[in-house]
Amino acid sequence: MARIMLGFLKRFIYPSMCLHCREGTEGHVLCRSCLSLLDLLPHAAVEVKKKHVMEVASTFERCGPAADLVRDFRNYGSRGLAKTMAAFMVVQWDHLQWPLPDLIVPVAQSLVHRLMRGHSTSLMLSEEMGAFLNRPVKQLLRRRSADYSQEGLNLEQRRLLNKGAFRWKKREDISGKTVLLIDDFHVTGTTLKRCAEVLQEGFPKKIYALTFCFLEH
Ligand SMILES: [Zn+2]
Repeated sequence: MARIMLGFLKRFIYPSMCLHCREGTEGHVLCRSCLSLLDLLPHAAVEVKKKHVMEVASTFERCGPAADLVRDFRNYGSRGLAKTMAAFMVVQWDHLQWPLPDLIVPVAQSLVHRLMRGHSTSLMLSEEMGAFLNRPVKQLLRRRSADYSQEGLNLEQRRLLNKGAFRWKKREDISGKTVLLIDDFHVTGTTLKRCAEVLQEGFPKKIYALTFCFLEH
């Protein structure tokens, strides 16, 4: 695993310092020893609600080097980091043996959020995954602008996340299609479920949701 990923990472130019331990690297995001700390999470959770089935998985636990990658990506939105993280997500997608999606949909981020950050992490990861998998990326959802980031919310508030937080941005025929929903990280998975509930109105064949990392609670 570490060897495969080093091959991937060689192609991306990045300051020659490991993001996690700050040791010198030869243009890699992470040094060899930090890279070996990354372990793919073993399986996906299957969510069944009424007759809808959604599979939810993350690539890594949000700790160590994976936590540093997602933090830097959230702060700076670098394209190189998006490529690296998406490469790991593709490895996990393959490992889970999920089918090739018909389309990739980023979790919508609120306008306020995007303006504050200047980039959309879920969209960038979706674009890079779309490039790796050669699949179209469609921003089908929008998030109410008043709905701020969940970072300041406790677990109970996250679970109660307003049902109307997400809507269609552009109604498109997704009936019978396999949809891959993408975000940078998740905790309870409420955001992913809310997005899936909206998409299910379009009768997709199945929805899969994949994030870069997961925070155990
Ligand atoms: Zn390191």
